[in-house]
Amino acid sequence: MLSKKKTENYRKLLSKRLDDLLKEANKTLSGMTGQRENFPDPTDRASLESDRNFMLRIRDRERRLIGKINNALGRIEAGTFGICEACGEGISDKRLKARPVTTLCIDCKKQQEDQEKLKGL
Ligand SMILES: [Zn+2]
Repeated sequence: MLSKKKTENYRKLLSKRLDDLLKEANKTLSGMTGQRENFPDPTDRASLESDRNFMLRIRDRERRLIGKINNALGRIEAGTFGICEACGEGISDKRLKARPVTTLCIDCKKQQEDQEKLKGL
């Protein structure tokens, strides 16, 4: 089990990351609005279209990450943070440091990846 102090550190780290992501997403949004007004030329609009797809992809990735961070913060509140959802064992500190939003210990993650590989064949 994680100590209270460690859990608190992860809570701060995750909150900070969430803040940064939301700021970044806002910047992306206002950037898109600005571009639309600045480039009325059709040629530029075409390149803007591909840019916008790029932006949407980024935002989708951000959105997923924001969801994961919210889940992790929820698990901290519930007192289940750092516990593997599959086997109920504690997730190693090393793994949590590298990937604080993870819900699986390294063994279960590996198992899941192996299963996904099998499905892909
Ligand atoms: Zn596990």
